[in-house]
Amino acid sequence: MNGLMQIFWSYLQTKYLRKFNSRQELEKWQEEQVKKFLHQIIPQSKFYQTYYKGLDIANWRDFPTINKSIMMDNFDDLNTVGISKQQAFDIALQAEKSRYFASTLNGFTIGMSSGTSGNRGLFIVSQQEQQKWAGAILAKGLPTSILQPQKIAFFLRANSNLYQTVKRQHIQFEYFDLFEPVESNLQRLNNYQPSILVAPPSMLRIIAASQENQTLKINPRKIISVAEVLDPIDNQYISQVFGQIIHQFYQCTEGFLGYTCKYGTLHLNEDILVIQKQYIDKDKGKFMPIITDFNRRSQPIIRYCLNDILTEAQQPCLCGSNLTAIASIEGRQDDIFYLPHISQGKLQPIFPDFIRRAIISASSKILEYQVIQVSLNMIEIELKLSGGTNKAEIESSICQKMETLFTSQNCQIPQIVFKNYSPCTKHHQKLRRVRCNLEIN
Ligand SMILES: [Zn+2]
Repeated sequence: MNGLMQIFWSYLQTKYLRKFNSRQELEKWQEEQVKKFLHQIIPQSKFYQTYYKGLDIANWRDFPTINKSIMMDNFDDLNTVGISKQQAFDIALQAEKSRYFASTLNGFTIGMSSGTSGNRGLFIVSQQEQQKWAGAILAKGLPTSILQPQKIAFFLRANSNLYQTVKRQHIQFEYFDLFEPVESNLQRLNNYQPSILVAPPSMLRIIAASQENQTLKINPRKIISVAEVLDPIDNQYISQVFGQIIHQFYQCTEGFLGYTCKYGTLHLNEDILVIQKQYIDKDKGKFMPIITDFNRRSQPIIRYCLNDILTEAQQPCLCGSNLTAIASIEGRQDDIFYLPHISQGKLQPIFPDFIRRAIISASSKILEYQVIQVSLNMIEIELKLSGGTNKAEIESSICQKMETLFTSQNCQIPQIVFKNYSPCTKHHQKLRRVRCNLEIN
């Protein structure tokens, strides 16, 4: 199959053919896909052969897991296409430095994920994998049929020829580098007039502000948030400025994990890969995803633990999809706050979502915020408030909300220090409104 056909085929499969009448039907299909995949792929990967030695594929759901560090430590043996970590690093670093991302190695695209803590991940994808991915992205992302013309604007930290794959004749695609000055990006965006706008929420916020003060006049019919947690406070603002639902793509190096349906509910892409749940708090429906992607052959992702916290939706979505509905992507596991328990000598975890809710519910005058746990007994809060508001009143309301939260979790109440909001000046950095700087994570 040629490239374009492969994309189109994957688009059709994702959009029309993979419909499941029940959860059971979906799971049965996944089970078949994974078993078939493992039978083929394990013999091709030295790492997995050793890792699963003596295990029966029928029990794959309980196989030992891997994560980013295991994947990176065993990079050479894990991938099935004979690319070494050194080779991959050289290519990825070079691309990032030159901001020219079209280079490949033996026909494979090499990419680097933007890890913040120095543990950056490398990924390898073949052309066929790219085309399948592009088809799935188009099937889930396009508001209309693939045959309708679209102009997509895509704001990213690093482009990749992965994204260029999506570019096809009547589907125009324009890449905006987040490392470029904001003003010139906004001007280009104004000239381009996208029908679909894709960007991290921090950038969408800047775009929305320009639209609000009329320095920018665009009229996208779909807006998709990527790469960062979409905080409710940003969601509300952007959605109000543009008068539409803000969609989300839950897409990372490890796979295309989720997308929002027409109701704005995030669904896991269980028709593309398997996502098992490693619960961290079952009662509250909080879990970390374990991914098995039965389409990735060059760098197989099998039982891969992702360092993200997701919360299950309590109600099924109105769209009727059998794909798991998610209430929120909370952020990374290492952004959980820890406070000393009031009587037992242990640390109590506080989920980022609870912190978020405490802040947002304190006042509707909060425009932007950032909460950082700096030590076991100190939390810093930066606030940007709407004009003419009583700062002291809002701060005291936040303190109350925080106290209620910490008391309910049996935690010692930390000192709360307020600061002025320091706008994120480096737009290529990821925005994390709730962040924990403790070493324990
Ligand atoms: Zn839905």
